[in-house]
This record gives sequence, structure tokens and C-alpha cells, in this order.
Amino acid sequence: MHGLMQDWPLNCHRILDHAATYHSEREIVSRLVEGEIHRTDYRTVRERSLKLSQRLTAEGVRLGDRIATLGWNTMRHLECWYGIIGIGAVCHTVNPRLFAEQIVYIINHAEDRILFTDISFVPIVEKLMPQLPKLEKVIVLTDAAHLPDSEIDLVPYEEWLAEADGDFAWQSFDENCAAGMCYTSGTTGVPKGVVYSHRSNVLHAMTANQVDMLGLSSRDRMMPVVPMFHANCWSICYAAPMVGAALVMPGPKMDGASIYELLDTEKVTITAAVPTVWMMLLAHLEEHDLKLPHLQRVVIGGSACPRAMIEKFQKVYDVEVIHAWGMTETSPLGTLCTLKPEYASLAGEERLDILEKQGHPPFTVEMKITDDMDKRLAWDGKTFGRLKVRGPAVARAYFKGEGGTLLDEEGFFDTGDVAHVDRHGYMQITDRSKDVIKSGGEWISSIELENIAVGHPAVAEAAVIGVAHEKWGERPLLVVVAKRGESPAKQELLDFIAAKVAKWAVPDDVAFVEEIPHTATGKIQKMALRERFRSPEAAADA
Ligand code: ADP
Repeated sequence: MHGLMQDWPLNCHRILDHAATYHSEREIVSRLVEGEIHRTDYRTVRERSLKLSQRLTAEGVRLGDRIATLGWNTMRHLECWYGIIGIGAVCHTVNPRLFAEQIVYIINHAEDRILFTDISFVPIVEKLMPQLPKLEKVIVLTDAAHLPDSEIDLVPYEEWLAEADGDFAWQSFDENCAAGMCYTSGTTGVPKGVVYSHRSNVLHAMTANQVDMLGLSSRDRMMPVVPMFHANCWSICYAAPMVGAALVMPGPKMDGASIYELLDTEKVTITAAVPTVWMMLLAHLEEHDLKLPHLQRVVIGGSACPRAMIEKFQKVYDVEVIHAWGMTETSPLGTLCTLKPEYASLAGEERLDILEKQGHPPFTVEMKITDDMDKRLAWDGKTFGRLKVRGPAVARAYFKGEGGTLLDEEGFFDTGDVAHVDRHGYMQITDRSKDVIKSGGEWISSIELENIAVGHPAVAEAAVIGVAHEKWGERPLLVVVAKRGESPAKQELLDFIAAKVAKWAVPDDVAFVEEIPHTATGKIQKMALRERFRSPEAAADA
């Protein structure tokens, strides 16, 4: 016997319909690439997205066609998202920070037909164009007056859009149709295409809006600093309009001063980004003795959030930190750290012990940790193993079947992370499986050591890698960027760590560097560091 409820496909564009109907005047503020601060609302964004759908249809774009974007977070990029998916085409967000060869690879692999790009990336596109034979059109997210001179054909977005009269309706189609596409940054092997469906995006946004998750409401002013090209923008471009939260889009500027300016003038209540962004903001706040009177919550994920960062946001700025874990393949939110009643009364260091964890999964994410034989391990907050997840917004395959079968016998996806889980279901990542330092019979968590190191007052950023060792196989090396004007002694840093971890986990040495390399998604590039500090001698010379 079937239920007798209506068939109402979970199409993503219904989210924008909802926002435009019930939260029509809620603001969307953008720092444009041209420099100005632009203001619009959900009603207008929907009207323009519909025009975009109409224009794409006139260009011959059909269900399932891939359309690429190379853009910062602005209202125009948002219009692209909804305009593309509203006719069942697939919005492929390309990360402009990738290497040129990777951009060429993924645009060709996805067989993108049209590319929307910001002015900033026109030089990249010009250079790559000869290698992109399937790309039919490049539309630049600006008007004719700001269109750069170019040897390739560039179409100004505003004029192109203005050719539509807006007399158009979105289509309804199977909720399992593809809506979005995002390639993993390829830190291991070639980039692989993760394909989100309308259904997975809608369910994921509903999940994200639970109070124990992002918990957005129509009273929030959300600033996604996390770029729209990074892991589905952590669902924010769906979750915010779903509840009518205002959006503040930071455009191309993500330095401490620019982020602070928007947090302050736009009275942002919640924001989200990787730890490196918050390092820059906190340095700016400290340097200029500033406060954050409007900001209530900051979502930090993509890499482990250092304990010192959580503490500073809370103690100095009275801002709640929500530590989040996820990956492109999980849409991406997998776990968030909010306090359940079991932990709500904790204070001081004990509270930080919990907040430092990556948190607990919401309904729609199932999680397990296993050993290498796929046997489930105990949830005792100590025993660590492979972290695996399952759910309606978790990938089951990559585009074109790259990488083969992704799921184990129970249908779980292996995240490549190593983690432990406590009895209340709080997960803590100890490492990426390829970054774990295997010293003698022990596994040393690079993340734990990094988090302790950045708690030292003279350390701006820290990375820990395994360096080959004759006797132990590998030993940890601490790589440090000192704070401006500071020059801590090696032994001082090692003593600082020794006070907090087992003796065998204390790094053998410290290398001071000017800068730690980051990947296109803001993670520490451990591969590059391992290459540089291949031997203990190389470390000693640093
Ligand atoms: P990339 O394309 O850079 O791999 P993802 O966002 O998909 O981008 O990366 C996902 C990985 O990032 C996770 O598997 C995990 O290793 C790491 N990660 C994400 N959030 C956290 C976190 N809060 N703490 C530790 N690691 C994290």
C-alpha cells in the first residue's frame, strides 16, 4: 500500500521560489569584483535566475548539460546556480585556485558547454581556451562597460541576460537528476567529479538547517566566506534561502580587513570558512583592537580547527565556534560540533575538549569506524580507525565511474580520514590516513600536534609531517611559521608540546619557514612539505 501524499519533487529551484515568495525582500549583499557593494533581494535574484534559464534555453542548453562557473561569491554567481539548475542543467563550480592543467582537465572531463567567469579569471580562461575544444561560449559576470579587451570572444553577462523578457517558468523533473558538480581538488590522483542531485541538495540543506547543525533562520545574516566553488559552498546557497536568511557575499576579498568590514557594516550573525581565513581575521582584530558585536556563530571546517582559535573566538569576542567536518563527497556537511545535554554543563578545558572534536552527525548521515578488515571498532573516544559514512547526500560513485566502486559491503563510503568516536557519537579526526605518522608501533596524530603548537603564543601556523627514520620508520617534524616579530627557540616549542602529549609523540625537530603551502581549498599541503623535508638533514638545515 502506498501513501497518498502528493508527488512534489525535491527540485533545488523550489528553494528559491520559496525564498522569493515568503522572504522576498530579504537582502543579498555582494562585494562585486568591480569593487562596489551591491544590494538586491531574493525576489530580484529569482527574476534574474529565471531570465538566465530562459537565455540558456535559447542557447540550446538542455537537461543534463554541464555549465561551468569560475566565480567568487556574489549575487551573479548565485543567479547562475539557480538559473542553470532550474532547467535541469548541471552547475559545475570550478575552483580557480587549481593548477591550470587541472582546470583544463576537469572542464574537458565534465564536457562543459558554457562557462560563466568573473573578470578576475579572464586571463586564465584566455590562456586555457585553446585546450578547451568543447566550450562553446564564455560569459563574463559583468556588464559591457567593464568587459576586458580580449582576443577571445567574451559575452557580457548583463547584456546577455537583458535579452530575456522573463516570461519563462522553471521545469519540474525527477528529483534524482543531477544539479551540481564539484571536483575534488585532486590532492590524491586526478580530480574526480562529485555529482549532487536535486534531491541530495534539498535533503542536505534541510539537514544543515537543523538547530544542532547550522541552525539558520530568517533572522540570520549569513556570510559564506567559504567559496561557492568549494564543496557545494557547504550547502549555504541552498540552506540560507530555504529559511529566508539574508546572504552577505564577500566576492573576491577574503583578507582580514575586508572580511571584518563586511562582518561589521552588514551586521553578519553567522559566517563560515576554513581556519586560514579566521587566522587572518583574528590577526587583523588583534592588530587594530577591534570587536565583533554582531557576530554570534562562526562555522569552521575543511581542516581541523585549533583549540586556541575556538578559545579566542569565545573568550575574547564572545562568538560561538561550530567546528564542522565534511568533504566534497558528503555534500559536504558530515558532522558538526554543538553541545548535547550530556556535555552542555561542561566548562573550561573540559568544554574545549569537546568543542575541539569534529562533532556528531545529523539525521541522514550514518557513521562508523572500522579497522582495515572492515570490522567495526568501539566508540570509546580512543580507539581510532577508518571513518566511513552513508546517507542520501553521500557520493556512491564519481562522474564517469572514475575510481570504480566507492562503497563497502554495507554501502558505506570510506572518507580516507582516521577518527575515533565517543559514546555520545562525537567524532574526532586524528588524521587523513595518508598523513598519519607511523612511528614504531604507534600512530601519531599530526592534527593533535599542530593544534597544540598553534596554541603557543609565538606560533602563527604549524604543520606536522612524518620524516623517514631508520629505526622508527617515521618520526614527526614540526614545521612552524612564527608570528610577526617573534622568534621562539626550538626547545621551547618542543617543551611546550612535551607537556601535553606522550613522550614518543613529541616531534624530533622543528623547522622554521616563512610560509606553509596551502592547497586550492585552504588545507596544508603536506605532500609539498614532505617533499621539501624528505630527510632529517633537510629539516635540520631549515
Ligand atoms: P579537497 O578537495 O581539498 O580534498 P574536501 O573539502 O573535500 O576538499 O576535503 C575533505 C577533507 O578535509 C576531509 O576528508 C578531511 O580530511 C578534511 N577535513 C574537513 N573538515 C575537517 C575538520 N574539521 N577537521 C579535520 N579535517 C577536516
